[in-house]
Amino acid sequence: MKAELHLHTSRYSACAVHSPEEMLVGLVARGYEAVFLTEHDAVWSRKDTARLQEHFPQVRIFGGLEKTLYHDDREGFQHLLILGTHSADYIFMDDAEAILQRAADEGLTTILAHPFRHEGSSHILDEGLYPDALEYRSCNHTAGQAEKSRAAAEKLGLQLVNAGDTHGLRMLGRFWTDTDEDFDSPTELRDMLLAGRYQRREAQRPAARLVEE
Ligand SMILES: [Zn+2]
Ligand SMILES: [Zn+2]
Repeated sequence: MKAELHLHTSRYSACAVHSPEEMLVGLVARGYEAVFLTEHDAVWSRKDTARLQEHFPQVRIFGGLEKTLYHDDREGFQHLLILGTHSADYIFMDDAEAILQRAADEGLTTILAHPFRHEGSSHILDEGLYPDALEYRSCNHTAGQAEKSRAAAEKLGLQLVNAGDTHGLRMLGRFWTDTDEDFDSPTELRDMLLAGRYQRREAQRPAARLVEE
């Protein structure tokens, strides 16, 4: 199943340039079969997600969140994806360990986004707190940063996934994850990821200009 695990829309992410409807049209055109809406510190309600799903039956649409985790000193931050949630509780939680535990209890995949993009963006790994997976390539994670991800994932025994970190239409179709089988729920996705039953995909074409988050 061709899946976008990391996508922003202008509805909830100020840095995204296209609306949910525009992004869904783009996903359908590029043959995506599943998408997680991972806005910055905002979640989609089940009702609004279902309404969007009605208009785009070709793609399975799931909720999600890109949670900003601050360091104790508040001087740095990191981004954690929680795939499939509709709960605003996560937005107000500060304790990374509690967040990871709750997501695991709920069967939701956690992915540390662009872990080597900037200083401190993989701080939780240093603290011994591990998500299910690390992002490898995305539109906001270079090949060099991805290699650091690979090394960390190998050392820690974590999965390594590709995602778009898509903030606009031109960022679609560059990096994605293909699951070996279809999934109907966030938990089925998690089971498949943890079992390594997926492929990292990357389009063979020149990189587009990157959009800042
Ligand atoms: Zn991010
Ligand atoms: Zn993002």
